[in-house]
Amino acid sequence: MPLLVMKFGGTSVADLDRIKNAAAKVQREVDRGYDVIVIVSAMSGRTNELVGWVEQTSPLFDAREYDAVVSSGENVTAGLMALTLQEMGVPARSWQGWQVPINTTAAHSAARFVDIPRANLDQKFGEGFKVAVVAGFQGLAPDGRITTLGRGGSDTTAVAFAAAFEAERCDIYTDVDGVYTTDPRISTKARKLKKIAFEEMLELASLGAKVLQTRSVELAMRYKVRLRVLSSFEDTDENSGTLVCDEDEIMESKVVNGVAYSREEAKITLVTVEDRPGISAAIFQPLADAGVNVDMIVQNISEKDYDDHPGSVTDMTFSVPINQVERAKKAMEEAKVSGEIAYDELVVDTDVAKVSVVGIGMRSHTGVAATMFKALAAENINIKVIATSEIKISVLIDRKYMELAVQALHDAFGLEAA
Ligand code: ASP
Ligand code: MG
Repeated sequence: MPLLVMKFGGTSVADLDRIKNAAAKVQREVDRGYDVIVIVSAMSGRTNELVGWVEQTSPLFDAREYDAVVSSGENVTAGLMALTLQEMGVPARSWQGWQVPINTTAAHSAARFVDIPRANLDQKFGEGFKVAVVAGFQGLAPDGRITTLGRGGSDTTAVAFAAAFEAERCDIYTDVDGVYTTDPRISTKARKLKKIAFEEMLELASLGAKVLQTRSVELAMRYKVRLRVLSSFEDTDENSGTLVCDEDEIMESKVVNGVAYSREEAKITLVTVEDRPGISAAIFQPLADAGVNVDMIVQNISEKDYDDHPGSVTDMTFSVPINQVERAKKAMEEAKVSGEIAYDELVVDTDVAKVSVVGIGMRSHTGVAATMFKALAAENINIKVIATSEIKISVLIDRKYMELAVQALHDAFGLEAA
């Protein structure tokens, strides 16, 4: 039997009517001849509520009990989805993570897959069950305790099942109808993409496009799982939504396929740092030890003089997630006190945003950076920091220009037209 994985996010199973609506989509695939593994999220808002209860009960909670509580939302929807399918005459049963089993590491609240043995589900499919409804987001630690995979983890559960069961495709049903060239709330010219390459989706997901959990895209890329993002609130068919796939499957692609943004950035500058071999290591090691996620880095000639080291000072600027600023400051201040590094001043700028253009075409096309910088210049937007990778260029700018920058870049790269 050909097999499909269908994943329904929280808004798609938010109440009994929506579960019915989702079940009808499952039934249609069963009628077409598929065996189906359905992965469900908790009803929307439920996981936040459960997390809140844990935090109120025990601020420094035991992560094993956090997982015991927080994983329960998915158990409810898995059971309700199986019941709904049975009411429609579709042979279905629910599976909790430990029953499959979904074996994970012991890293509670951020566990990773170890393996998903197929025997139990295969046996049930062999007995005539058409649908296995699996609770997303959860697994089983080696010591027999329940784990969860990190927020948004049901996407990753879905991809892992698609890989383990060699599914024809993994369909992610959600509250948007696909992946767009940029956020439609920011640019009315945003266009839905028919296809997008794994690498591009991975960049967009990690740059803040919230359609898919980043790890699910990583996993899909590794195991070449064809992933489709589509709406559970519309009539859909084989051509709906956006297919996330290998670049070989994409015939026509632009140089740039997406513009992403993130408001959750901050810029930190260490003013007048000694310019000597080893200084970068001395700065970034304490940040790494403190678990700070440094993203962009620039080192430039300091505008100021540094009395002790005339002619050999530099300013070091880097960006961090805005909620890690305090941690980064503390790490730098401690390194200064202990004499590992010296600087005159630590300047924090939290009124910044990161805007990025992404496209695999950048590997073989020149001039992308020039086009990007010209478009920003035309709007009088000053660039504070630049970072590039093989398929991405990111700039840090004043936050008040973020929307304008996204719109200008969307225009400059002609993303509106298919
Ligand atoms: N319910 C979990 C969460 O909200 C997992 C998921 O929905 O993907 O994070
Ligand atoms: Mg989600």
